[in-house]
Amino acid sequence: MSQSLPAQARVVIVGGGIAGCSLAYHLAKLGWRDVVLLEQAKLTSGTTWHAAGLIGQMRPNRNMTRMSRYGIELYASLEAETGQATGWKQCGSVNVARTPERMVAYRRQLALARGFGVEMHLISPREAGERWPLLRTDDLQGAIWVPHDGKANPADVTMALAKGARQRGARLIEGVRVLGFDIRAGRVCGVRTDQGDIACEVVANCAGQWARQVGALAGVTVPLYSAEHFYIVTQPIAGVTPDLPVMRDPDGFIYYKEEVGGLLMGGFEPVAKPWLETIPQDFANQLLPEDWDQFEILMRNAIHRTPCLESAQVKMQLNGPESFTPDGNFVIGEAPELRGFYVSAGFNSSGIANGGGAGRLLAEWIVAGEPQADVWDVDIRRFGPFHGNVRHLKERTVESLGLHYAMRWPRQEMETARPLRRSPLYDRLHARGARFGARMGWERPLYFDAPGAAAVPYGFGKPGWVPRVEAEQRAARGAAALFDQTSFAKLLVQGRDSLDLLQHLCANDLGGPVGTITYTAMLNARGGFESDVTAMRLAEREFLVVTGTAQATRDADWIRRAIGDRFATVTDVTAAWSVLGLMGPRAMEVLGRVSPADLSIEAIPAGSFRDIDVGYARVRAARMSYVGGPGLELYVPAEFAAHVHDALHEAGAGFGLVDGGYYAIDALRIEAGRRAWGAELGPDETPLEAGLMHAVRLDKPDFLGRAALLEKRAAGVTKRLGLFVLDDPEAWPWGGEGILRDGQPVGEVTSAGWSAGLGRAVVMGYVRGVGPIDRDWVLGGNYELDIAGARTPIRVQARPPFRG
Ligand SMILES: Cc1cc2nc3c(=O)[nH]c(=O)nc-3n(C[C@H](O)[C@H](O)[C@H](O)COP(=O)(O)OP(=O)(O)OC[C@H]3O[C@@H](n4cnc5c(N)ncnc54)[C@H](O)[C@@H]3O)c2cc1C
Repeated sequence: MSQSLPAQARVVIVGGGIAGCSLAYHLAKLGWRDVVLLEQAKLTSGTTWHAAGLIGQMRPNRNMTRMSRYGIELYASLEAETGQATGWKQCGSVNVARTPERMVAYRRQLALARGFGVEMHLISPREAGERWPLLRTDDLQGAIWVPHDGKANPADVTMALAKGARQRGARLIEGVRVLGFDIRAGRVCGVRTDQGDIACEVVANCAGQWARQVGALAGVTVPLYSAEHFYIVTQPIAGVTPDLPVMRDPDGFIYYKEEVGGLLMGGFEPVAKPWLETIPQDFANQLLPEDWDQFEILMRNAIHRTPCLESAQVKMQLNGPESFTPDGNFVIGEAPELRGFYVSAGFNSSGIANGGGAGRLLAEWIVAGEPQADVWDVDIRRFGPFHGNVRHLKERTVESLGLHYAMRWPRQEMETARPLRRSPLYDRLHARGARFGARMGWERPLYFDAPGAAAVPYGFGKPGWVPRVEAEQRAARGAAALFDQTSFAKLLVQGRDSLDLLQHLCANDLGGPVGTITYTAMLNARGGFESDVTAMRLAEREFLVVTGTAQATRDADWIRRAIGDRFATVTDVTAAWSVLGLMGPRAMEVLGRVSPADLSIEAIPAGSFRDIDVGYARVRAARMSYVGGPGLELYVPAEFAAHVHDALHEAGAGFGLVDGGYYAIDALRIEAGRRAWGAELGPDETPLEAGLMHAVRLDKPDFLGRAALLEKRAAGVTKRLGLFVLDDPEAWPWGGEGILRDGQPVGEVTSAGWSAGLGRAVVMGYVRGVGPIDRDWVLGGNYELDIAGARTPIRVQARPPFRG
């Protein structure tokens, strides 16, 4: 064994790019000893050394923006701390718009930036030209100016993080390749290298584009795939000065920064070029061959935007591979497959901007054993094993790189690697005109159009599908509607200690008799929502936990990790059961036509289920409704789903029964005041803030998060969920709009839906005070929404508009 390798470490980090070095730095800063980083070649020799170094702060949500702002503060202070220069320069950034739609997107961003505390200004084409003199402005609509954005030298930033880590005692060792892992009882307990083994408690896979391969050595899915990624660097150009801002022209898919008196110009071609399925392990400090054909679209757009490039001398075209993920967000967290095995990878060409903050987030996660903030957008548990399918990844990477600068629309769906997971009713619903969207790989009906009708184009205004969705909503409120909700994740929790396990995890009381359904929060130690689920007690020692489609991996992991010494198992049975939501005032009449069962409220009380016959099938009828109002959710063994669907439609013909999709479900649940995990609920929101204390039994002797809730209740909360109705029936919010209270930004819209009943939009969102706020404070304000720069009055509601 090499002299330099320790036999033991607390944590071994695999990979010495910005992700690994940032993690080592932050773990050491949090006081961890025995931090060892292994790099197979030299530090920064993977992807990091050839990054362009653009660093922006604005991200689509509050926590991610906080993360990248922290990264900037860190890069600005690292030189003073470590003595190693980072090349950080706060030159600001100018992002230009060629189209009116892009300006709408910028105005929406501006409203969010105000709420997140990011300084951002809308500027005219002339002002953009003043800040960036080489810019062609005659065809621009406008631009945004972000003064605190900047640029840095990626290799120098990484070396400064490495130095800071070493100064705090971490060991960063070059020239050591990790070949495998020791695993015992579901935990990683060691690393095998080409120079000997290291026993350890924690492994962090920060292996960049190799992270999928490194993960596979431990049986861990890391869904990423490399694409070729390009920029050019020119000889010096007159007028290009070191303090020239970063400039992005997303409609031309291109970006610029100053580089040694010349321009560095690169971009994100709409149709990307994926690289190899298996990355050669010795690809260090290397580049790929130039490809001017692939670069042509960027070059053409750049010559248009900056005519000086036509005559500038190009020093080099750089083609370096970078890894991209199925949804364009990076991947951090403890792998659900293996305890103690963490990942930080797949940075989608933003690893320099996000590396500093991601290192801190993951270090905090490792030290505490769970994330310390809502990081759901980048959480490894948003994926399932199927996301590791290489063909899926390769095709998706072509799209996800291409979307980086493309116009992004509300409710835009990815198009590649679909259709994948399908309910048994997929073909039937397709034939009935369903338009599908995908969630966690599941194809779900969004709404029903006339079969063969053209797709409704994306846009920011009131969409063309509204009349269709309104018809579905009206049926659900006035007659009957049938929703295929098969994609609901379903976890079977069984075993002698299953009740004890769930009583520990759930804030509500699950001790009701067999046949009971309980809606409950599952809280973390901070009192925040890890999930909200409904649990059906199937037997003394058997529960079906039903949760959101996207949360299958996450919730199964959350429950499994709490098992400890308890005798209990968790099995994902999602695909075994279809769920048909039969909703509306005539739902029972429809069901009564095909079921001999007593469907009265006495026979199946609210919050309970019974097994009943439907047609020739036996199904589980659960008296609950996410959309509000009367109805049943029918849990149908998958093999009977088509039969039951046919039977219900036959029976429903005379009752106005229609198929409904997820757009209607969403709108109905918003007007009924139902919260959704991932929108209103997340790890940073407690039931106190979300107004869901009715699903919490503080009188239960103990449950996870109880102590934190009691503390927070005593101290008071500084944000609370509000429900609002828009005054203007023409105004169209999508979610993400800024909420103003008495003219001041206080929050953002978490969910927006069109209420067919009210003929206007209904939104939910948190409002924040400077100190503790109560319900009266929320109800006492004058509110407006900032919809792309236009303010529109909204009325806060003491109760949901629909209370059926
Ligand atoms: C052309 C281009 C331009 C870019 N521009 C920007 C930009 O302007 N702004 C921005 O934010 N981002 C940019 N990026 C993205 C950025 O470079 C990456 O996101 C970032 O460098 C990824 O860092 P990493 O640490 O995850 O990976 P890497 O830097 O690749 O580090 C991973 C390391 O793991 C090591 N490793 C792998 N397997 C093993 C093993 N088995 N044992 C030991 N070590 C191993 C590798 O040798 C490698 O050094 C750009 C990327 C490219 C290609």
